[in-house]
Amino acid sequence: MKRRKFLGAASLTSIGLFFSQYVNAKADLPLEKSNIPAKDEAKPIIISTWNHGMAANRMAWKVLLKGGTSLDAVEKGVMLTESDPNNRSVGLGGLPDRDGNVTLDACIMNQKSQCGSVGYLQEIEHPISVARKVMEDTPHVMLVGKGAQDFALSKGFEKKNLLTPEAKAEWLQWKRDQMKKPRINSENHDTIGMLAMDKDGNISGACTTSGWAYKLPGRLGDSPIIGAGLFVDGEIGGACATGMGEAVIRIAGSHTVVELMRHGHSPEEACKLAVERIRKKHEDLKDLQVGFIAMNRAGKVGGYSMYAGFNYALKDAENDEMIDAKYDLEW
Ligand code: ASP
Repeated sequence: MKRRKFLGAASLTSIGLFFSQYVNAKADLPLEKSNIPAKDEAKPIIISTWNHGMAANRMAWKVLLKGGTSLDAVEKGVMLTESDPNNRSVGLGGLPDRDGNVTLDACIMNQKSQCGSVGYLQEIEHPISVARKVMEDTPHVMLVGKGAQDFALSKGFEKKNLLTPEAKAEWLQWKRDQMKKPRINSENHDTIGMLAMDKDGNISGACTTSGWAYKLPGRLGDSPIIGAGLFVDGEIGGACATGMGEAVIRIAGSHTVVELMRHGHSPEEACKLAVERIRKKHEDLKDLQVGFIAMNRAGKVGGYSMYAGFNYALKDAENDEMIDAKYDLEW
């Protein structure tokens, strides 16, 4: 590099360094001032997306009551939803892609930023547990397709046909009505995303789905993507997304929510700002339902969606309820 160019680059680098330190210092400010409870004041709490979150929360709560970690709680909680044959959007009984294959996406993350993920996984009932194995037993974060299935089988998971007769009948009906576009999130309740805080104040999250019904074969949504469908930062909190994964990926949705909390926003405000960022980036909002839930390190929670109709389940020592999220638009 010529000397003049080099000097130019060097001084730009130092300006950059100076600026990024300044920005970082500013970014850290709300955190330093925030009122994060001491570990021994942490109160266990769980939230998860949609109505199916009620049963999942109760399962996760049992784990927390026995002194289990938030990671164990979120895994056990969403496994219940994965095994529910009546749920058309998660695990067993999930609606297939347009060729009739049930393909599952899931990820899991803890307060230490350890994470694991599987995508396009077939014939395995508990993608969330395979994701956890990826996290704990491999140097990788994400396995997809046949590799993910082979890995699951090597870890003792068994193959199972996940396309129930009822889901198959719905798929065949959809084929007869060809090109009737499924409206994500309105008729079908979707992904389960769960965030839990344990007695030590540690937050973990899990996210699992069969994805967009009748999707193109090979499609991955946001749910297995760390930072899109789920993100946890032990210093700040966690967030999960549901709805049209393509839109969530475009803004790295869950990571965005966590970063907004880092900058001092409450969980609900952070979810709202992320929804508004998605609004700004899309000209056509028709059918673009997205929803976020978030929990900060102080155990405060919130949610927000683009359209009416999104709700989330909350469980703690005093409450076991559904909360209607605020939203921007009516259908
Ligand atoms: N976000 C999921 C996906 O795009 C589906 C959903 O939550 O509705 O695969």
